[in-house]
Amino acid sequence: MKKILTCLVLLLSVLLSAQTDSRIYDIIDAISASRIEKDINTLANFGTRHTLSDTLSNTRGIGAARRWIKSEFDNISRDCNNCLNVFYQKDMVTKGTNQRIVKDVMVVNVVAIQKGTKYPNRYIIMSGDIDSRVTDPNNYTSDAPGANDNASGMAGTIEAARILSKYTFENSIIYVGLSGEEQGLFGGKGLAGYAQKNNWDIIGVMNNDMIGNIKGVDGVIDNRSFRIFSEPVPPTETEKERKSRRFYGGEVDGISRQLARYVYKTTKLYMPEMNPMMIYRLDRFGRGGHHRPFNDVGFAGIRIMEAHENYTQQHQDIREENTIKYGDVVEHVNFEYAAKLTAVNAINLASIAWSPPPPSEVKIGGIVEPSTKLKWKKNNDPNCIGYKIYWRDTTSPTWDYSRFVGDINTFTLKGIVIDNFFFGISSVGKDGYESPVVFPSEVFRN
Ligand SMILES: [Zn+2]
Repeated sequence: MKKILTCLVLLLSVLLSAQTDSRIYDIIDAISASRIEKDINTLANFGTRHTLSDTLSNTRGIGAARRWIKSEFDNISRDCNNCLNVFYQKDMVTKGTNQRIVKDVMVVNVVAIQKGTKYPNRYIIMSGDIDSRVTDPNNYTSDAPGANDNASGMAGTIEAARILSKYTFENSIIYVGLSGEEQGLFGGKGLAGYAQKNNWDIIGVMNNDMIGNIKGVDGVIDNRSFRIFSEPVPPTETEKERKSRRFYGGEVDGISRQLARYVYKTTKLYMPEMNPMMIYRLDRFGRGGHHRPFNDVGFAGIRIMEAHENYTQQHQDIREENTIKYGDVVEHVNFEYAAKLTAVNAINLASIAWSPPPPSEVKIGGIVEPSTKLKWKKNNDPNCIGYKIYWRDTTSPTWDYSRFVGDINTFTLKGIVIDNFFFGISSVGKDGYESPVVFPSEVFRN
């Protein structure tokens, strides 16, 4: 009886706590559009933040910009009893590495780590970019305010650090300003390499690149929609994994796609006024972003950005031609919208950082049987109250069906035929926060 009662209480707490932790709503409310506006102005006022620009001036160039970003993280850390470990992570990129590196340059990222209390080596990362450019990618002297691309993402990252540093988390959160994006994604490559060298267990990267434009080049004005780009499967998968997908599925179920689904679901739950659009591709058609270097080495990573871009305001010399004003200037940024997308990031960072590690060694079975069976390895976290099995129609982009199954390591979904659905499983913590869904990596027969 006692056991049944405990189970009931646990189940009830799962059902309730999924949306009763007011901290998530507090976080959304605390994100400030006016602080983001102030920071975008500060960043734009460094004249240019081109990766190859001046590093000695205190008022102009990328050196001044990164020192200011570091001082902001340092200030935030001082206000939270030194809860952030703030440092420069840098790599020398030599002249001629590609056509956009016309001289040797130190590509410098500004990293702020809020260490997790329980899993300090598990990291969820929010990134923005420090650098900016004009029409000619190699012009490192002309004014390049880069207000939307990408002071918006950088300011959002700093604001998320301000708010989330007031809380403690089981997993670590990294807030980072990356550099060298416009010259060839060098900052992301540098940090991904640093992560590998230091054996960081990266849960995922949320790359924010342009989160402030609401008036599209197509004429659409929309302050509710945003895009979540994710690649289908990691480029590091093995030939064996690729072959097995033909028979068992998983073409649209890589780790980055699961992170995209997580952000989609969390947004729909806590910010239902927003319209997240999952885009089933690595990035915009033929274009790049700073999540890619992380994807390249097998880490989960997505790009979060506005739904409607305006190309006359990206990568442009500031000028007027035929009454069109070109240039990425502050006047075009919608700060309320940037604050909303920052809130999207913050609630996902918090949800993931408060969640237990996912189950591992997830296996699936049920060939020519009336039911689907799942087996997994538990995470051994005493705060994990159990696991949740998800499934969906094979044509659906989202995990539409689910069932909490308690703290066990195998379960049979009776009457659910394996052929007609895709399946996954997450772990659930005592406050209701869930890990991203894990897609089965192995098939068992018995
Ligand atoms: Zn750009």
